[in-house]
Parts: sequence; structure tokens; C-alpha cells
Amino acid sequence: MSPRPLLHAALSLTLATSALAGDPAGQQGGDARATKALPAAPDGTLPLMHPDEQDKGAKAVESGLLWLARHQDAEGFWSTRTFDDHCAGKECSGEGEKGNNVAVTGLALLAFLGAGHTHLSKELVADPHTDKAVRFGEVVKRGLKWLMTRQDQDGCFANRGGMRMMYHHAVATLALCEAYGLTESQLFKRSAQSGLEFIAEGQNPGKGWRYTPKCGDNDTSVTGWCVMALRSGDVSGLNAPNRCFRGALAWVREVTDEDYGRVGYTAKGTGKVMILGKNEDWEHHETMTAMGMLVRTFVDPKGEKATIEAGAKLLVADVPEDARFKVDSYYWYYGSLALYQFDGPDGKHWKNWNKALRTALHSSQVDDDDSCSDGSWDVAPDRWAFEGGRAYATAMGVLALEVSYRLQAEFPGPKKK
Ligand SMILES: [Zn+2]
Repeated sequence: MSPRPLLHAALSLTLATSALAGDPAGQQGGDARATKALPAAPDGTLPLMHPDEQDKGAKAVESGLLWLARHQDAEGFWSTRTFDDHCAGKECSGEGEKGNNVAVTGLALLAFLGAGHTHLSKELVADPHTDKAVRFGEVVKRGLKWLMTRQDQDGCFANRGGMRMMYHHAVATLALCEAYGLTESQLFKRSAQSGLEFIAEGQNPGKGWRYTPKCGDNDTSVTGWCVMALRSGDVSGLNAPNRCFRGALAWVREVTDEDYGRVGYTAKGTGKVMILGKNEDWEHHETMTAMGMLVRTFVDPKGEKATIEAGAKLLVADVPEDARFKVDSYYWYYGSLALYQFDGPDGKHWKNWNKALRTALHSSQVDDDDSCSDGSWDVAPDRWAFEGGRAYATAMGVLALEVSYRLQAEFPGPKKK
């Protein structure tokens, strides 16, 4: 296993394609990459996808992004509840809970950035549901601008004291770091950096993070998002302290069952996470194990090799499935990132996962030319979408699609002799 140098669809893509083209990162603007044909690897080892398959993935991503663009508020955010004010024709269903707009906006932006669209993108895409041409670059610009207006003097993007404060903050910071990494625009540098500083300050010394800064409690889920933001900042040339990564790894180790590689949520052996009355019927998945694998891969891939491998085995024993009480886009996204890093694009773990992932994502995405919900994912079947609503479900669906299609198409993987 050779760990990928970068974490996210957007950044992996930028640097990978830039390296192939001999072009410094971020100099081309997003749409050049978004519309780019499959690049030929210098050594001819690129794992080519069949053009029909590639086309299917690109269409599914574009249709998801069009739904997101159609439901963005004029101020730039995505709402968990009032997205349906923007519907074309009959209103889309699937409201989420109040107070989650920062995180959902961050995720929606990551979905655009992951497809290579930045605030500089000029290309126009026709939306058949409104008969308007949409400039994704404008959508991204408005979203980032709104997030930055939310940031306080300490660098925090989230509502202070909100239930999921550090979640929201970490996702927003990740979006800003990716926007900066893709474009190197000074517009985002200070905001991204101060977001990272707020994360670093909020860490429990030598451990991880939980809902509020430095509260003494830790959980693997919030810790995973914080590490994603820090890693993105690090590879974008921002300052992300080493002690943060070391603490996160110490936390993940503390909650890992050494015999199986299974990672707990708030303690070793904590299995199913649920909210009573909301999602206790859903099956448990190895989401925390996937997040633990990513932390290990980013921080100490050699030292943690055996545990990462054990985690990969758990994930492939529980591949994505579009079935009742099994849909969990949060798991699908993190599982995809972890397994792609593990042995993508040619390894058997990734291949098995990816096959199931594509089937599940395509069958669960709304495909209906006569409905405004076309391109989105329904809320009811998804384990966690009751919190973030249709915009959340759709952003996560697109993000998982991007790992499946864009990384495999454009990131050549290790050289073969
Ligand atoms: Zn709608």
C-alpha cells in the first residue's frame, strides 16, 4: 500500500492532474479540469474506465450539482429547511433540522470543488428544470463568501455553543482549505488559516475533538472531520501543527480494538451510533473504522499498516447497498475515501467496494426529468439525512460519486513495472 499524498477529491485531483500536465497547482482554474478529457499517463498505466461508464458518472455528478445550484439561497448558503423556496414546479421534500446550514453549505461547496469547480470557473451548464444556464463558478463564489461572513474574530465559522459546533466548523474549514488549495487565491488564505487555528486551539491536548472546543470529551467522528481539514490545510501550504495529527492518532489508537481493527466512537467497543426516535432502525456500519483508517493513513501509514489493513477487511465485508435501513451516505463517503487510499484504483478491496458503491449511488439518486428533485438523493432512506435534509443527502451523494469516478479516472495510482 502506498498512501496517496492528498486526501480529498478536489485536492487529489488538482495536484494529480497538475503533475501530469507539468502545471503548478491551481493555475488553470476549475473548469479546465472539470471538462478535461481522460489524461494519458506518462507511463501508460492509467486505469482507464470505459467511456460509457465515465460518462455515466460525469452525468450523475453534474445532475447532483445542478440540483444543489438550483436550491442555493441568494445569500450563498444551503438551507436544511428552506431549500424548497427555490424549487422549479412542485416542491422537493426532505427538510432537515434547524441550525445545520453552515455544515451543509460546507458539504455542498466540497461537492463543487471536488468536481474541479472553483470561484474562477467560467463554464455555463444548462439546467433543464429552469431553462437557465448556471455558472458553477458563481455558485461556489457565493457559497464561500457566505461562509466567510459567518466567521468570527477567533476563526470560528459555527454558531457558538451549537450542538454540533465543531462538526460545522471543521466542515466549513475544510471547504475553505480546499478552495485555497485549488486556486491559491489570497481571498481564502486568511480565512482558511484562522479556521485551522480554531481547530488546533479546540483540540483536547494529546487527544481528539468533540462538539465544543477543548471540552475534555472526544469522538472519532468529529475528530475525523478536524483531521480532514488539517490535512487539507497542510497539503495546501497552510500551517497545521504536527501535534494535532499526533493527538488524533493517539485518540484513534485508544478506541481501536487491536484484534479486529474496529474503531469506536467515544470509547473502544462503542458500536452503533443512533438517535432514538430518528434512526435506531438503521444498520450499523464501519464509519468510525473508515475514519480511523484515514487518520492512520495520513499520520503514520507505515506504523499503522496492519491495523489499516484490518479496517479495510471490515469495510469490504459491509459494502454500500441501496436497501431499506442500509443507506448511509456518510459511511459511503468515508468508506470510499479510506479504501481508495488503501488500494485504489487497482486493488481488490477498492474494486469490490467501488462496484457496490456505484450500483447503490445510481439506484438511489433521483432520476426524473419531470421533477425538481431530479439529481438529488431522498432524505427518508438515508441514516443521517434527517439532520441535514435533502441538500445534505445530495452533497454526500455527489462527494461519494466523485471519489468513485473522478479519482479513478484522473489519479493514476502507483506506477507498475
Ligand atoms: Zn426543488
